[in-house]
Amino acid sequence: MFESLAEKLQSTFKKLRGKGKVSEADVAEAMREVRMALLAADVNLKVVKNFVAKVKERAIGQEVLDSLTPGQQVVKVVHEELVALMGGTSSKINMSQKPPTVIMLVGLQGAGKTTSVSKLALYLRKQGRKPLMAACDVYRPAAVKQLQVLGNQLDIPVFSMGTGVNPVDIARGAMENAIATGRDTLLLDTAGRLHINEELMGELKNIKSTVKPHEILLVVDAMTGQDAVNVAETFHEQLGLDGVILTKLDGDARGGAALSVKAVTGCPIKFVGLGEKAEALEPFHPDRMASRILGMGDVLTLIEKAQASMDTQMARDMEQKLRKAEFNFEDFLVQMQQMKKMGPIDQILGMLPGMGNMKALKDVQVDDKEMKHIEAIILSMTQEERQNPQLIKDSRKRRIARGSGTSVQQVNNLLKTFDQSRKLMKQFSDMRGGGKKGKNKA
Ligand code: GDP
Repeated sequence: MFESLAEKLQSTFKKLRGKGKVSEADVAEAMREVRMALLAADVNLKVVKNFVAKVKERAIGQEVLDSLTPGQQVVKVVHEELVALMGGTSSKINMSQKPPTVIMLVGLQGAGKTTSVSKLALYLRKQGRKPLMAACDVYRPAAVKQLQVLGNQLDIPVFSMGTGVNPVDIARGAMENAIATGRDTLLLDTAGRLHINEELMGELKNIKSTVKPHEILLVVDAMTGQDAVNVAETFHEQLGLDGVILTKLDGDARGGAALSVKAVTGCPIKFVGLGEKAEALEPFHPDRMASRILGMGDVLTLIEKAQASMDTQMARDMEQKLRKAEFNFEDFLVQMQQMKKMGPIDQILGMLPGMGNMKALKDVQVDDKEMKHIEAIILSMTQEERQNPQLIKDSRKRRIARGSGTSVQQVNNLLKTFDQSRKLMKQFSDMRGGGKKGKNKA
């Protein structure tokens, strides 16, 4: 996500950071580059103008130029203004005191509504809520079936009445069903159209006035850039939105919609879709997004993902082992399996500081196939070998390679990587206070 924008901004700021002294002309040049990068990213023209003017005004102030690290101060200003542009703080869903909370998802066909309904239902269930999904999209062929299949996979109930029924009646029926079955959150999947038209808006307004949703969320496709922003503007005018779910951010190299929606419409982005899988939905945090764009990483999201995929006891045991440097191949295997649950490796690595930009990631090339090889190699080791990797000498290496369908070279590579990471972990745990003093001497 945002690869091309991130790459351009990061190269601009690298030049600034390298300078001991920054002049007004340097700032002006950097701002010219920022302006071009944002326009190329399909950010709304007015938004770009305002943004650049604000940053410039602050950046040529004395507190920045006279500081000891002017380059970094400029980046700090840009970070703060990016956060403000995207809405400042993250916005939550309005939950009703009296259940069920009704959340209505609207949007054009293909934006990702049905998918987002199921993602959001799963997300809310993880927060302890009891969702019911309702299939009110009687317009797109197979939308009802699609929601039922997703509901089945996730074990979340779906209310439907087929396609020959008025969506307003389905929404009303779903409401009654939620109350009768004790579901505290009702998610309505409504129909879209290829373009905004009166029929669509009329239908949505009818549903809105009948069930009075607590939250109306517009689903838009990030890859459509400024079109997404225009769609959001119209929906907001006609229907009144509480927020936006921006989908397909995983395929959006530019980021124009993410950066313009709030500034243009006043409506906050509440969630982003980062893939087709049910887990690929994240709450939108403007500060974390700004950090990712500027290559500062997003360690907070990474930690949350790790916590969500690993139970606390397991995490504590692992930390103990790391501290004592007792980490072996068995733990490594467990960690790998946990990593897989956190999402695609490139997305995970993208959250690490300094690794946000895809060019760097391309060199890493940790793909799923490679992960499978590594797993096969470890599974071909005996328990003793996994616990004491130093036992693995030539004949054992050949046996493991044969057993896992890999080569001795691949086994060697893994042993080397493992050894290096163990050393790194040891240093890391020493740094965190477990180790000897004075280790800073090289
Ligand atoms: P609807 O017509 O608005 O209900 O759209 P769907 O939910 O059927 O989604 C349309 C297509 O977009 C499907 O192929 C989804 O898998 C895909 N999709 C939805 N959200 C995302 C996302 O965040 N990332 C990616 N890569 N694909 C998505």
